[in-house]
Amino acid sequence: MKNTFCLLLSIFLTITSCKEEPKEEPVLESTPPNFIVIFADDLGYGDLSCYGNPTILTPNLDRMAHEGQKWTNFYVGASVCTPSRAALLTGRLPVRSGMASNKSRVLFPDSKNGLPAYEITIAEQLKSVGYATAAIGKWHLGHKEQYLPTNNGFDYYFGIPYSNDMDRVAEYPDGGYWNQQNEDIKTEHFNVPLLRGTEIIERPANQNTITKRYSEETVSYIKKNKDKPFFIYLAHNLPHIPLFASEEATGKSKRGLYGDVVQEIDHGVGQILETLEVEGLAKNTIVVFTSDNGPWLPFKNNGGSAGLLRAGKGSTWEGGMREPGIFWGPGQVKPGVITDLGSTMDLFATFSAMAKVEVPNDRIMDSYDLSATLLNGQPSPRKSILYYRGTELFAARLGDYKAHYVTQGVYGQFGEREEHDPPVLYHLNHDASEQFDIAEGNGEILGQIKDLVEGHKANLVPGKDQLAERE
Ligand code: MG
Repeated sequence: MKNTFCLLLSIFLTITSCKEEPKEEPVLESTPPNFIVIFADDLGYGDLSCYGNPTILTPNLDRMAHEGQKWTNFYVGASVCTPSRAALLTGRLPVRSGMASNKSRVLFPDSKNGLPAYEITIAEQLKSVGYATAAIGKWHLGHKEQYLPTNNGFDYYFGIPYSNDMDRVAEYPDGGYWNQQNEDIKTEHFNVPLLRGTEIIERPANQNTITKRYSEETVSYIKKNKDKPFFIYLAHNLPHIPLFASEEATGKSKRGLYGDVVQEIDHGVGQILETLEVEGLAKNTIVVFTSDNGPWLPFKNNGGSAGLLRAGKGSTWEGGMREPGIFWGPGQVKPGVITDLGSTMDLFATFSAMAKVEVPNDRIMDSYDLSATLLNGQPSPRKSILYYRGTELFAARLGDYKAHYVTQGVYGQFGEREEHDPPVLYHLNHDASEQFDIAEGNGEILGQIKDLVEGHKANLVPGKDQLAERE
């Protein structure tokens, strides 16, 4: 009886409230935004003028940072190429997909495997709601046909399928790989293929013009696909060594060839922004710029700079995994400097939310939707960063604090492996350079970070190692 009364009451209230509500105006279906991710290779935190570099001039990236958001605590999912790229495209820690290994840190031209088919890329997400999708540039998630971009959600691919220093020829000049002098290095010393779709169209790829051509391909793809939503993943092969710049770009920077290369990437950014503006797409496109990992420091002047951050590529110190993170979208992205945490893994959930695609719920994701921060300047939902080397968790950041459980040098620099108990603790917002261990007296913070790590490990199912097997 009581239930019947409640039911009648709720029907009455529903009818009444329906009557009282003003009629909603019909809402026009808004066009989903376009997304362009510009991903540099081995470019460090200190390599852009808007992040403090004194002699590399990057006016177009500076403009993106000024008109959009510049993130100062923005991270990648791993400190080397292959796992970092897997993390960005899948929104998951590479340990989960098997794209991180303790036997081989990255894929090589004789690697057997690549990104497993069950992983879902951002391209697959967006393609499911009608996006045109292109990968332009370095892939490095498997060079065999089944692993190439065109089998991972991308309609179109133009690029070198792995690093530009692979397939080295026997007649490499004197001085050796680790001591290369720019004037001795020729594009012919690296027999890397250039692909369109799955076909090799040039070998060795002419690396002198590769940066320029990647930017041009992007411009052309925008023009061809301006009438539908698109996602372009522009992953430059450079400034990963060996360094090459076009004739027009060479000699332009006071920072030498490395600066020329970064400035040529920046020049391409300018062409892309201009195309978006001319085509009337700027107000409905989000452009992101970041890099896959920190600078490759043993190459000295041929490598980049992590600025005030400690160490570089390959390490779990900040210089290995904290990167420039710039978001541009005039009229959409609220301009500002964001000091909250963000990660390349967050692009998956962020783009999915903006394009109104459900994030997969059949797997553990490591991706946070940053759209409220981007569009309204609200606090970032991400509060922690996990720092893996291969499949081993070396460090964890929670809020301001980072605990190192293991530290280890890399490429013959920065010391031997050391395990720390208690962990080494840094306050990263006070001490970005990780110089002053404050573990003593901060047991409560260490306990909170330990809870975070234990909670993470309790649910972790590492994927089958995809990097170890070679032909
Ligand atoms: Mg890299």
